Amino acid sequence: MHIFAVANQKGGVGKTTTSVNLAAALAASGQRTLLVDLDPQGNATMGCGVDKRSLKSSVYQVLLQLATLEEARVTSPSGKFDVLPANRDLAGAEVELVDLDSREMRLKAALAAHKADYDFVLIDCPPSLSMLTLNGLCAAHGVIIPMQCEYYALEGLSDLVNTIKKVHANLNRELKIIGLLRVMYDPRNTLSTQVSAQLEEHFGDKVFKTLVPRNVRLAEAPSYGVPGVLFDKAAKGAQAYMAFAVEMIDRVNSWKD
Ligand code: ADP
Ligand code: MG
Repeated sequence: MHIFAVANQKGGVGKTTTSVNLAAALAASGQRTLLVDLDPQGNATMGCGVDKRSLKSSVYQVLLQLATLEEARVTSPSGKFDVLPANRDLAGAEVELVDLDSREMRLKAALAAHKADYDFVLIDCPPSLSMLTLNGLCAAHGVIIPMQCEYYALEGLSDLVNTIKKVHANLNRELKIIGLLRVMYDPRNTLSTQVSAQLEEHFGDKVFKTLVPRNVRLAEAPSYGVPGVLFDKAAKGAQAYMAFAVEMIDRVNSWKD
């Protein structure tokens, strides 16, 4: 089981879109996949077609050990993968976890019992470097960082990289950066291509080969509760996320050799 956190403390950079579409694309490629929504906004939950307002239990109860993962997980009605859903309850977890034992290891502990159930676990992190994100980073083997190729893209990246280094040093020796994923890419925009080239120069093979273009079909899909890769399979954005799933599967297989 490979566990990846999709993280970037900036909002609106494509974390949720990447989490939902990569999960659906991995599932469509035959991988047993679980998507963990760690954002109180519950956008990943809704984007998978799961109604966040009518959950019996959610990741919140799992983190507080009030429910097990079996009790809280649901199957996405639109894709063949499981979702550990989230809603606004999760906003309280931040405060409620503070006084509890091994508060940053709660998600890791919940997933440990399910090693045999999944090939891939993806964790959609909130836009902060909070206790929730820390739970994601402590549970993960690697981090996927979506970023837009814009002038300020690199600003804030060092905060994330430093946090990942600290977690690696103190809490999770397995954690590493898997790669930077360029999203909402516009090849006609000179700045976009320049920043993209700079990323390749500085980060080398830490930059994924797949480029996800700006594509309105990816933005429309969530309102139908269907991952973009299934909503319009022919769209450029959907094809990019299918290619990204293949790149991730290849990456993981290369570790076995
Ligand atoms: P985050 O989870 O980092 O806050 P989201 O995945 O929610 O970011 O994306 C922010 C907004 O950008 C959403 O409205 C989403 O639909 C849109 N979006 C994300 N990726 C793309 C893309 N490749 N093309 C067009 N719109 C996108
Ligand atoms: Mg999000």
